[in-house]
Amino acid sequence: YADTAMYQAKTSGRNTIRFYDASMQLAIDTRAELEDEMRLALKNQQFCLYYQIQVDNLRHSIGAEVLLRWQHPEHGLISPAQFIPLAEETGLIIPIGKCVLQIACTQLAAWQNDALTRDLTLAVNVSAKQFHEVDFVNQMQQVLLESGANPSLLKLELTESTMLENIEETIAKMREIEMLGVSFSMDDFGTGYSSLQYLKRLPLSQIKIDQSFIRDIVSDANDASIVQTIIAMTETLGLNVIAEGVENEEQCQFLELRGCHAFQGYLFSKPVPLDEFMIFLNNRS
Ligand code: C2E
Ligand code: MG
Ligand code: MG
Ligand code: MG
Repeated sequence: YADTAMYQAKTSGRNTIRFYDASMQLAIDTRAELEDEMRLALKNQQFCLYYQIQVDNLRHSIGAEVLLRWQHPEHGLISPAQFIPLAEETGLIIPIGKCVLQIACTQLAAWQNDALTRDLTLAVNVSAKQFHEVDFVNQMQQVLLESGANPSLLKLELTESTMLENIEETIAKMREIEMLGVSFSMDDFGTGYSSLQYLKRLPLSQIKIDQSFIRDIVSDANDASIVQTIIAMTETLGLNVIAEGVENEEQCQFLELRGCHAFQGYLFSKPVPLDEFMIFLNNRS
């Protein structure tokens, strides 16, 4: 993303997001423009959360992941891939991430009053910048206190690269957060560089197999054996494993046969707004 800037084309009408190379003259203006728009979005509460179900091998709902969306008044729904890189770069991910944690924890607390949602875990993506903030542990403590969420139902999703950035500090911080009752899932597993050595040391409860390995798992022997190796490794390390990007029955059965019993993907549901998520849960039960 380093040399690509997002540009919301004003001239070509609504719902248009364009990417321009940073070498283009327009880029600087438009990056600044996007930054301004993001600040406004925070102020005007244009960021919202979508929920995607996670299921076990009996297809029972076990949890959800919250996924950020930007509901822009002119450009419509903007996906996180289009603004998180710049939010990271500018540091705006910090207030945005705080906002996500607050909404997610408040929701998690509200779910505790409903039999349908009481046992669901909620996974929240945390960016490197946010996690490595000096007072992130305090922030977590604060948001748990204020929301009244049950920490044992909260999962923080970090990527390998986030965790490997200053590994000693990361481990210490994860341990402190773990003491609050919160658990960790390693997102996009397999796309980074973690060694078994690190995996053994990190206080993780779950590994999420990246969707890039799931896509062709049935037809691509390499992907199949990578996934099999990951599953075997999680068994050795005593970690839970979940597959993301499960889109069809064949992939799901393939995974299940090889010992993966938790799934997330379009096969079950796309990420949806909260009201739709609640309807979906009601219909499933
Ligand atoms: P992620 O955490 O790995 O989330 C999984 C992505 O895969 C989501 O994209 C989800 O909509 C998509 N997905 C789920 N099931 C399927 C499937 O069956 N097939 C396919 N092709 N895709 C599927 P999304 O929502 O666009 O989010 C993209 C990334 O943006 C996330 O990847 C995460 O890294 C980041 N992100 C999302 N929300 C947040 C947030 O609140 N904070 C931070 N820091 N990052 C976030
Ligand atoms: Mg995630
Ligand atoms: Mg992922
Ligand atoms: Mg991802």
